[in-house]
Amino acid sequence: MSITEIENDIYLIDVETAGIKNFIASYVLKGKQTAIIETGPTSSVHNVLFGLKELDIKPKEVVYVAISHIHLDHGGGVGKLLKFLPNAKVIVHYRGAPHLANPEKLWQQSCEVLGGIAKLYGKPDPVPEERIIAATEGFAFDLGDDLKLQVLETLGHASHHLSFYEPLKNGIFPGDAAGVYLNEIGVIVPTTPSPYRLDIALSSLDKLIDLKPSIIYYSHFGKACDAVEKLRIYIHQIKLWAKMAKQGIKSGESTETIRRKIIENDKAMQKSLQYVQKHLILRETTLNESLKGFIDFVERFPDFSL
Ligand SMILES: [Zn+2]
Repeated sequence: MSITEIENDIYLIDVETAGIKNFIASYVLKGKQTAIIETGPTSSVHNVLFGLKELDIKPKEVVYVAISHIHLDHGGGVGKLLKFLPNAKVIVHYRGAPHLANPEKLWQQSCEVLGGIAKLYGKPDPVPEERIIAATEGFAFDLGDDLKLQVLETLGHASHHLSFYEPLKNGIFPGDAAGVYLNEIGVIVPTTPSPYRLDIALSSLDKLIDLKPSIIYYSHFGKACDAVEKLRIYIHQIKLWAKMAKQGIKSGESTETIRRKIIENDKAMQKSLQYVQKHLILRETTLNESLKGFIDFVERFPDFSL
């Protein structure tokens, strides 16, 4: 578990789920009040708590735990974490809120989609309803010391996805709306599981670009500069994948052939292929789940023009 001060008063805890470094980040914003953005899954909550202790933040000082969405790797740990933070409320998209209060269905579906990876993440604990802030676009939270969090609705990756904008540093916390940034090799790869909505995801990315952010705080993984350029690179990449999926479906190609052609045409994938194939989780999500998301999308929306 490592903690990095990435800005004045903003810290990154590498939650090291299943011992995997540089994969899931939890951010701590320390104003007069403290907020956490993303908890990571249940199985690594102890590392978030250890990080708070190292930062000398008392559990009662944390007032908000904001999660971009309820997928286990982002918000799965929130129910467990809240048991240790007596004053904290959860900020979550209003469509995700019922699944925090009653995570049974979320857990079942996660097991079906993710199989063994869900087990690595661990089953989410329920969050008491009175501790949930069902949020959407326009909500804002003042942490004091000029730190604020503004809520943006950025759907597409999921139908209940939020991003958070921090105006002082002009940074965004995009959850999974801006892809997965492999910070060790400087490459972005898609995170677009089914039922992915490319059309909505593109509008969400435009919304993030309109803010003209300087910094992206990726949940996967870490702080990156040249935010607008990275968002544009991601737009280009997801359009390319969708185009290849659409062409492939039209000519009756197998998923395997479409995958091969995407790798041949996407320089970022060529650069990251080895990294992804060696990665316990990304090897399953990037080239299988994300591709499936594009194939499903072009099948459901064959008229969407690229
Ligand atoms: Zn997700």
